[in-house]
Amino acid sequence: MEITREGPYRYRIERRGAMRVPGVVFASADLLPGAEADRSLRQVADVATLPGIVRASFAMPDVHWGYGFAIGGVAATDTAAGGVVSPGGVGFDISCGVRLLAAGLDRDAFAARAGTLMDRLGAAIPRGLGRGAVWHLPGRAELERVLAGGAAYAVERGHGVPRDLARCEDLGVMSGADPGLVGARAEERGLGQLGSLGSGNHFAEVQAVERVYDPATAEAFGLRPGRVCFMIHCGSRGLGHQICTDHVHAMQTAMPRYGIDVPDRQLACVPAESPEGRDYLASMAAAANYGRANRQLLTEAARRAFAAVHGCDLDLVYDVSHNLAKIETHPVDGEPRRLCVHRKGATLALPPGHPVLPPDLRAAGQPVLIPGTMGTASYVLTGVPGNPAFDSACHGAGRRQSRHQAARSVHGRDLRERLQAAGIAVRGASWRGLAEEAPAAYKDIDAVVDAAEGAGLCRKVARLVPLGVVKG
Ligand code: 5GP
Ligand code: MN
Ligand code: MN
Repeated sequence: MEITREGPYRYRIERRGAMRVPGVVFASADLLPGAEADRSLRQVADVATLPGIVRASFAMPDVHWGYGFAIGGVAATDTAAGGVVSPGGVGFDISCGVRLLAAGLDRDAFAARAGTLMDRLGAAIPRGLGRGAVWHLPGRAELERVLAGGAAYAVERGHGVPRDLARCEDLGVMSGADPGLVGARAEERGLGQLGSLGSGNHFAEVQAVERVYDPATAEAFGLRPGRVCFMIHCGSRGLGHQICTDHVHAMQTAMPRYGIDVPDRQLACVPAESPEGRDYLASMAAAANYGRANRQLLTEAARRAFAAVHGCDLDLVYDVSHNLAKIETHPVDGEPRRLCVHRKGATLALPPGHPVLPPDLRAAGQPVLIPGTMGTASYVLTGVPGNPAFDSACHGAGRRQSRHQAARSVHGRDLRERLQAAGIAVRGASWRGLAEEAPAAYKDIDAVVDAAEGAGLCRKVARLVPLGVVKG
């Protein structure tokens, strides 16, 4: 693979063989993944062979290996030109994403009763691999309403306030969902898990704003130094996973009929406008709505805990997915084109003035929510004009080590002690899960965010530090 440096934060993987476009990696020299350690850049090159892909196969600074597509990958295909949709470009955790809430509480007030609040949160937030959920759905009919209505349906049923929806991507509901397509196995997994975190990489974290880079934008987002925040990271649980699995299999069978040949079976795909492509997109939207309702219900559980202990509110700053394919219009070679934009471990990052932003965010841009680790920082950024990757940014620090490597390097019990000694309260689900998520297993979040900003993907607004984490 031939990689050329195009600028301080931009590398190019030259077109070769079946690649239809080049690969573009936004990273500093230090962050650029080495070919031996991590096959992610090979994956970026493989994605560049997909039918209909336009501009480039992009990698964000937090890129690392994933199923088929790298995590931290962005690929857009031209739907009118036979452009494909691929479940691997979305990931198994459909609409996994981040929600940030700002509390009516300062850091000092939190510290005075940290243990009490953390215990409440720990008890109120179902997590880990087992069952348990905030909202037990009585049956298929109610599940279908969630799959069609997302966070908007949860709010309609009293789980939240209408203002929440104004601060959700797509107003909390992805259009085009077809709940009828969701199979029995996905249904079974979905009924008992609505309002639950899931496994280790998912979390609910109390944070404090440590630094503000852009006071005017921070104010529009409701962020000021010392303010306590609450960040939720989770997705569509077993239901989304099952839908991804079902469609990967269906597409592996259908692909030859469309004459599509991919270098890796995990890149299974079909034209976005084919019957199989449309079915996937409608099922994916249903799973996305489940993921959005899931974050809405966990918000309700957190609100009850904050109200009981501190008598304070949690205002939604923003809710955004980082595993999704969306049909969007972007200019390509000067012409507006209808594209299927896959963001897998990449966050939507709309610039100021974008028409879908709510009026109170129009001047500031879309809040871009970037978790770091439970022991380091997390960031809030905003979108910028002229984003080269279809209004996308990184979604986290990105893994440096596999889960297995991380669990071998540290015991969960020691890690918890270290975090608690650093003033970070931990309510985990399992020692193993905790160790797999050790901060050392991730890249340096400050370097990743600097690279994202330097590459012109987004702009820093505030830096948050962890005070207490409820780990999946
Ligand atoms: P993913 O969606 O790829 O599983 O995770 C997104 C990002 O979340 C990771 O790249 C990592 O930077 C971040 N992350 C994982 N665990 C935690 C945590 O406990 N707290 C915070 N603040 N970030 C985390
Ligand atoms: Mn996830
Ligand atoms: Mn995620």
